[in-house]
Order: sequence, then C-alpha cells, then structure tokens
Amino acid sequence: MSKKGDMFYAWTSDAELAKKAECGGAVTSLLKFALEKKMVDGVFAVTKGQDIYDAVPVLITDPKEIDKTAGSLHCGTLLMSKLVKKYLDGASNMKIAMTVKGCDMMGLYELAKRQQVNLDNVIMIGVNCGGTVSPVTARKMIADKFGVDPDTVHKEEIDKGQFIIEYEGGHKGISIDELEEQGYGRRSNCRRCKLKVTRQADLACGNWGVIGDKAGKATFVEVCSEKGASLFDAAVKAGVLKTEAPNPKGLEMRTKVENAMLKLGDKWRAKDFASLGEGRERLKKIVKETSRCIKCYACIENCPICYCVECSTKKPYLVTPGQVPPNFMFHLIRFAHIADSCVNCGQCQELCAMDIPNALFMHAQQVELEKMFGHVPGVDMKLPLLALVEEREERDRLSATGSDQIFDIFK
Ligand code: FAD
Ligand code: SF4
Ligand code: SF4
Ligand code: SF4
Ligand code: SF4
Repeated sequence: MSKKGDMFYAWTSDAELAKKAECGGAVTSLLKFALEKKMVDGVFAVTKGQDIYDAVPVLITDPKEIDKTAGSLHCGTLLMSKLVKKYLDGASNMKIAMTVKGCDMMGLYELAKRQQVNLDNVIMIGVNCGGTVSPVTARKMIADKFGVDPDTVHKEEIDKGQFIIEYEGGHKGISIDELEEQGYGRRSNCRRCKLKVTRQADLACGNWGVIGDKAGKATFVEVCSEKGASLFDAAVKAGVLKTEAPNPKGLEMRTKVENAMLKLGDKWRAKDFASLGEGRERLKKIVKETSRCIKCYACIENCPICYCVECSTKKPYLVTPGQVPPNFMFHLIRFAHIADSCVNCGQCQELCAMDIPNALFMHAQQVELEKMFGHVPGVDMKLPLLALVEEREERDRLSATGSDQIFDIFK
C-alpha cells in the first residue's frame, strides 16, 4: 500500500497508449482506469483541437475515448478549474477525475472554499508545470525565431530548458532563456509561478527526475493523498501500470530542477514587480493601463476567484452603467475582493480584450498581502483574508468562526 510522499517511476502497460503519451502514459492510464472501474462518472482532461495551439477541454464518459487526451499541450493556456464550476455544476452531482496543472489545482481550492466546487467528488491528477506559451506568442515565435511556418508544426515539447518543435521537414530547439530575453517564451504569469509540483493534488506526475533507460518512457509519480494512493495502488494491482523505484540520482535531479525553477520564479517576480514601481507610482500605472478597459468582463468571467451571482461591478451605484472606460471603481472592486486569493493563473490578462496586464497587477498585490498576513492562496482550504482584517490575530479569530465574513454586510 503506497502512502503520501511515496515516489515511483510508472508507465502504462498499453503499448498503443505509450506511443501517444507525453512520457510514461501513467496519467492517461490512471484516468482510464478510474473511469473503467466506475470510481468516477467522467474524466475531465484536454485534447488537441485544430492544431497544437488549440487545447480543448473535454469531458469523457466512455473509456475508449480517453486516449485522445494523452500528451501535453504547452500552448494550451486554458484553466480547468472555473470550467468545473461553470459547466459541471462544481462536481456537485458527479464524480470526476481530472488533470490539473498548478494553477488549475489552486483555482479548484479557491472555488471549493467558496463552496463552488465539491472537492470530495474530484480526483486531481496533477502534472508538474514549467509553464505555457500563449498560442499567439507561440505562432509569432515559431515564425520569427525558428524561421518555420507555424502551420507546419505537428509537435512541440519543452525539454531540458528548450522549446522544441517538430515540423514538416525537421525539428529545432531554442533555449527558453534566450527566447524570453527577447520577449517570447512563456506567459509572464507562468514565469512568476512557483507552483511547479502539484503536491496538494492527489498525485503529482511529471518527467523531472526520470533518468537512465526510463528517460522519456516513464512518468515520475509522487503520491500526495490517500485518494491518490488508492487509485494508484489499484491501477498497479490491476496491471494497468508498471512501476519501479526511482533512480536516486533522478530524485536528486528532480529536487535540483524544482529549486532552480523556484529561483527563476523569484527572479521574474522581482523584475516584473519592480517594473510597476511602488505606492503612488504603482497606482498611477494601474490607473493609466486600465483606462483602456472596454468592460468586456472577460477578466471576471474567467477568474477562478470570481464566482458571485451578482457581481458588484454591475451595481449602478458603484460603476456607472453604459460608460466606457468604466470608472476606476470597476478595477478597485476586483482588487478589494480577490487580491488576497489571486492564484496568478493569468486568465484575466491572457483573455483581456485590451491586453491589460491585469494578472501582473493582481499578483503583485497578492504577494504583498501574503508578506503581510502569511496567507497563501490555492494550496489548502484555509479561508481567504478579508480586506477589513488588519492583523493576523484578527484573521485567526475570523477563521475560527468558520466564515469568511465578520458581518453579513449584504443583509
Ligand atoms: P499523459 O498520459 O500523456 O497525459 C497528459 C495529461 O495532460 C492528459 O490528461 C492531458 O489531457 C493533460 N494536458 C495536456 N495539456 C494540458 C494543459 N495545457 N492543461 C491541462 N492539462 C493538460 N513535467 C515536468 O516534469 N516538468 C515540466 O516542466 C512540465 N511542464 C508541463 C507543462 C504543461 C503545460 C503540461 C500540460 C505538462 C507539463 N509537465 C511537466 C508534465 C508532463 O508533460 C506530463 O504531463 C507528465 O509527465 C505526465 O506524463 P504522462 O505520459 O503520464 O502523461
Ligand atoms: Fe503552469 Fe504555473 Fe503557468 Fe499554471 S501558472 S500554466 S501552473 S506555470
Ligand atoms: Fe487568475 Fe487574474 Fe483571477 Fe488572479 S485575478 S486568479 S491571475 S484570473
Ligand atoms: Fe464577486 Fe467581486 Fe469578482 Fe464581482 S469582482 S464576481 S463581486 S468577487
Ligand atoms: Fe476591462 Fe480587460 Fe477586464 Fe475586459 S478583460 S473588463 S477590457 S480589464
């Protein structure tokens, strides 16, 4: 019986699936097994749409369909968590197994705190995540930097610090550092992201640490919960997955790479936040940038923290209706309501019609609040801070009430 903290090299016993999977196919095998054994009613994962720049979320109920979700789409910048709330009724009446990157998982926790997702009904199979590239940037980068027509690319991967493409006529890799120095590469929120290994999911799967003859052929699996352990053990027992102990050198390498990624995240945070200035200067920058806003609501619609049926930004006494750009209160409302819980998923920036760096603004505020109050969003069920709460003792007192509201101010 495996337990939290155990680690394995694991690979699928299905030869056809092994060809399609990113590394060992453990993730897809586990999802398929959970569905076949009726541990879940559906699997929520990602499949390739029109091309490699088009990551499409899919709910699968027939195990025969699962193989089409194998493989990693690094130009797929979608967030899975809000979709569970929006389209699957927060998993309130169905059990699902789903693949989660760090931001997907953090979004699920924040929604669960707000009772918008029932985590008891979700098996989270986490994947390590070094970052994603916006489809628009990816196309431009492949044309400009690789000198390749983006429509001829049929495969991309990120390996050993390189972005690698396979296209009609060859393959090419360029170092991500080099690409990022020139303004290409991963989304800016991904550069700042420090949730690299999804240890708060049920299983954390990746390729870091797989070396020797299993390199590229096995998935590195870390067991992170009892739920994860039972699924993993059952799949191994049924012969769906084969396993071996990880190579000790591989373990060391995994830790080294993770630490290097965390340092890189700190470096980008320092750089990006410094570019905003502080105090009044920062405020001025935010006011200036958000003055382009056309009130399309994409930032609110796609944010995993925004869940309210009646959003305050639509209250006429707070934000004047029919006015574009909206008064600054529109953005202030979001800062006040969600800055403490922002998980830096990047959706409010990626999908902003006016390319306003909303995620940078919000993430910068979140990190400040984290420094002040010690609250880390997205990693557990601890209730969010309330803007009214000024001291850690007060926060603790509030948590003890089991509510995130001191007063019911809406009564
Ligand atoms: P498979 O059996 O091939 O299953 C892959 C699963 O990932 C499928 O369920 C698929 O639906 C899902 N998926 C694909 N694209 C996305 C997406 N954009 N968002 C959410 N789910 C998706 N591992 C590392 O060790 N280091 C890394 O830096 C790293 N970066 C990654 C970046 C991204 C964007 C993704 C999606 C994965 C990354 N991984 C990374 C994990 C790695 O690529 C494999 O997914 C993991 O090792 C499992 O391998 P597998 O063969 O078992 O997966
Ligand atoms: Fe991956 Fe983090 Fe970017 Fe999410 S925010 S895609 S977990 S690097
Ligand atoms: Fe994601 Fe933006 Fe919401 Fe933060 S504010 S959680 S970056 S959508
Ligand atoms: Fe709710 Fe505030 Fe987000 Fe509107 S901006 S959905 S009121 S959290
Ligand atoms: Fe304004 Fe951009 Fe939000 Fe749309 S997504 S409401 S343009 S800030």
